[in-house]
Amino acid sequence: MSTDLKAFGDLYVVATPIGNLEDISLRAGRILSNVHYIAAEDTRRTQLLLRHLGAETRTRAYHSHNEQLVSETILLDLKSGKDIAVVSDAGTPQISDPGYHLVKQAFSAGIRVIPIPGPSSLSAAISVSSVPTTSFLFEGFLPSKGKKLQEILQRLAMEEHTMIIYEAPHRILPLLELMSLTMGKNRCLTLARELTKLHEQICYGTLETILEEFEKKVIPCKGEFVILLEGKKDKTLLVDIEVEHVMRELIRELPISKAADIASRLTGQSRKNLYKCGLALKNKL
Ligand code: SAM
Repeated sequence: MSTDLKAFGDLYVVATPIGNLEDISLRAGRILSNVHYIAAEDTRRTQLLLRHLGAETRTRAYHSHNEQLVSETILLDLKSGKDIAVVSDAGTPQISDPGYHLVKQAFSAGIRVIPIPGPSSLSAAISVSSVPTTSFLFEGFLPSKGKKLQEILQRLAMEEHTMIIYEAPHRILPLLELMSLTMGKNRCLTLARELTKLHEQICYGTLETILEEFEKKVIPCKGEFVILLEGKKDKTLLVDIEVEHVMRELIRELPISKAADIASRLTGQSRKNLYKCGLALKNKL
């Protein structure tokens, strides 16, 4: 935002608080106060932040439904020399949030794209993780249900790195239950809920103990969640997995032979025995 004459404006990609407004950085505050306008995923939420900063910068809606269309207008404005900031609803743009199309187009057009780092539920959750995070796989949101979710969980069951997953309050419990069935109840995880907010809660345990805490309402199914799930430790065999449960779930969606293949890979048990188990279960369904 220099006052020098320049052909193009700059695009600032600004991280904003995930709950506590005090987490806005000094630099982010200055940029948001001084740009020509802010492309915001949720203009009402951004207005609250601007009020906190005492800034009167204009906002313009920029979200997943109009991302491609609005990107073109923003690009024209950048080309005419205007400095523009892009923010998501909360946290860092592009982390399971819009921003990708605009950044890609701006970069291709020769516009300077400047990151203004700051809050993200991803980095905040990692910073309080009790499962190892020297390397991790960020999965974002998983499909909400059905075969696609089953397939992804079967792939993740074999993953050795810690997995980081976003989930909404109404789906957290079914997802953890399905994880327990697919990966075994002894898998460790950190669950970060409502980070930086009034009811912040960081829990560590196994899938079994965390599910018990939900049952006892120690952890409410409310607010926003990040799951940090420890990777598979044993390279050859999943321990304590409830084989019968896994087969029961798999044969609901797949032919018995395919279910036996997958269950054999997951558990290390004989495919032949699993096939027999599948036949017996199918008769009971
Ligand atoms: N870009 C955002 C970021 O950097 O944090 C993430 C956006 S994504 C659409 C929203 C998901 O992030 C929520 O469903 C939840 O899984 C996670 N999340 C966002 N804020 C959170 C918070 N304060 N505490 C825990 N999880 C949060």
